[in-house]
Amino acid sequence: MTISEFLPALAENPYFSAGFGLVGVGTGLAIMRKGMQFGFVMFRRHCMVTLEVTSKDKSYEWLLQWMIQKQAKQTQHLSVFTTFQQHETGKVNAQFDFTPSPGTHFLKYKKNWLRIERQRDQGMRDLASGLPWETVTLTSLGRNKEIFYSMLHEAKTLALSKQEGKTVMYIPMGPDWRQFGFPRQHRPISSVILDDGVSERILNDVREFIFNKKWYIDRGIPYRRGYLLYGPPGCGKSSFITALAGELQYSICIMNLGDRTLSDDRLTHLMSVAPQQSIILLEDIDAAFSKRDDDKMTGNKAAGYYPNYVTFSGLLNCLDGVVSTEERLVFMTTNYLERLDSALIRPGRIDLKQIIDKASVSQLIQMFLRFYPHMKHSDAVLFSKTVSDTNQRYSVAQIQGYLMQFKQDAVAAFDDNVSYNSCKSQT
Ligand code: ADP
Repeated sequence: MTISEFLPALAENPYFSAGFGLVGVGTGLAIMRKGMQFGFVMFRRHCMVTLEVTSKDKSYEWLLQWMIQKQAKQTQHLSVFTTFQQHETGKVNAQFDFTPSPGTHFLKYKKNWLRIERQRDQGMRDLASGLPWETVTLTSLGRNKEIFYSMLHEAKTLALSKQEGKTVMYIPMGPDWRQFGFPRQHRPISSVILDDGVSERILNDVREFIFNKKWYIDRGIPYRRGYLLYGPPGCGKSSFITALAGELQYSICIMNLGDRTLSDDRLTHLMSVAPQQSIILLEDIDAAFSKRDDDKMTGNKAAGYYPNYVTFSGLLNCLDGVVSTEERLVFMTTNYLERLDSALIRPGRIDLKQIIDKASVSQLIQMFLRFYPHMKHSDAVLFSKTVSDTNQRYSVAQIQGYLMQFKQDAVAAFDDNVSYNSCKSQT
């Protein structure tokens, strides 16, 4: 059979034409599928904008909060994040924050539909917090990236507005700082009763420092300033620092130098990544480092000490290295100034030392009038005399505790009969 006879015969063969047809259909479908895939890729590339935010990013929490605010009524799939705080008094505060659960959510923003995909990677963990790694991917139709800028801006404003008028506390968590508890209402600086001129002295110094950055830079002086408040417990050191943070609208980063997980490197790192506009508070610094004691420094357990992982020289290096480009202040407190090593309290590391002592006459008067604003100044003077006559000095916390017993009855706050009667006659 010649080739010219063979081809028509093949074409007439029903099996062959059916097979050929099937191959044709298959090829056609495969081409269509590829075409659609290509089309979709091109569509995504040119007609959609995508934004990925990872849980490591600062705006991640803001974004979740913003999402829940925007679509709280629509979404049915939520995760809860509970903030719990137990006060010294035993009172418990708990706050439930809902965030969209992992999965896909849709929401309309500025006339655009956004597809929001929250993914949780169980296999990967954030080393700092130990939490699963998460990402939120936002997709919008069109080519307008502005929508994301505006959304992030809104999310930031919303989150910060919740903190307005409040002082945020941070504690170290791994290599980062984590917000601790609820932001607290600013404590007015006038609510901390210190001896005459003390509050103003510190406040003026801090303001001077904050507003004169250029002065330091022009003269090549490292822009840093350390503060030490010392004195007996219960006299208002911590209260003043909290109030000062409120006054300056700063946050407070509490660093516990006795923390067994803290090393020199971690301390230096934490100091350098502390949030901007914050007070780094090293409380009871004497408890971490008394006068240079090599046994303690090297962690000689035989000497009765457990190892300190932050060394004294590590702390000094760290203090020398804190250059306050981001408006950070270092405050230290101690109940025992005499226990501190002179290397720690020399100028450059601690530039302003201030004793916060037991209540003076002026403080006693102020406290009395704070408790009983309807009483006369002369009554307050009498009260201060009564206290002074005991020949003992008391901390403001002790006086406060005492006056608390007579909240409604100023007269009963006088201990001896003479004062009691004279006070009574004046009211
Ligand atoms: P310190 O840090 O000196 O040990 P705190 O600031 O922790 O003292 O004071 C303990 C409590 O006593 C505070 O919660 C506050 O209510 C009260 N207190 C102490 N000193 C003062 C003060 N100078 N003015 C107002 N309240 C004070």
